[in-house]
Amino acid sequence: MKRRLLFLGPPGAGKGTQAQRLAADRGLLHLSTGDLLRAEVAAGSDLGKQAEAVMARGELVSDALVLAIVRSRLEGQPEDGGWLLDGFPRNLAQAEALAELLEDLGQPIELVVLMELEDGVLIQRLLSRGRTDDNEAVIRHRLEVYREQTAPLIRYYRDRGLLAGVAADGTMEEVAANIAAMLA
Ligand code: AMP
Repeated sequence: MKRRLLFLGPPGAGKGTQAQRLAADRGLLHLSTGDLLRAEVAAGSDLGKQAEAVMARGELVSDALVLAIVRSRLEGQPEDGGWLLDGFPRNLAQAEALAELLEDLGQPIELVVLMELEDGVLIQRLLSRGRTDDNEAVIRHRLEVYREQTAPLIRYYRDRGLLAGVAADGTMEEVAANIAAMLA
């Protein structure tokens, strides 16, 4: 069973929900940079203060900041522990920094799960979520940022033979079953 996973896909595709569930089922460390950043904002830390305005605009916080968060969590993880990265990497620079970190740790990615949905469905889902960065203008901007900066990772991981696409338009149960089938 594959235990070092990365979830890729636009905001609203259901990555967080599926990642949380899979990590709980299989005892993997679930690392969501969005969740970790929101916790920093809520705690009012220096890091949170740096990230808050950028997140509210739907832009990406700095690579250095996000990478420091991920590095500190992965470095403490036992070699056979397994992890699931959700919302990271978000651009090619982050993907390359991650590859280097994982090489140092001797823990390469085993599978990248790509969840995709049409923009219309994504926008409806995000609008119903009610997060502070989920108003329509910010949502549209986050989708643009995804297309421009994150979507190139699809090709990056496909070229490395790691990508597996999953239909993300079913029920939560159906999507979970599709993902489980790819990890066997
Ligand atoms: P998410 O919960 O993954 O949708 O992330 C919410 C927001 O946190 C994003 O819109 C970004 O502002 C920020 N964020 C999360 N992950 C990253 C990342 N890997 N790199 C840069 N910014 C991120």
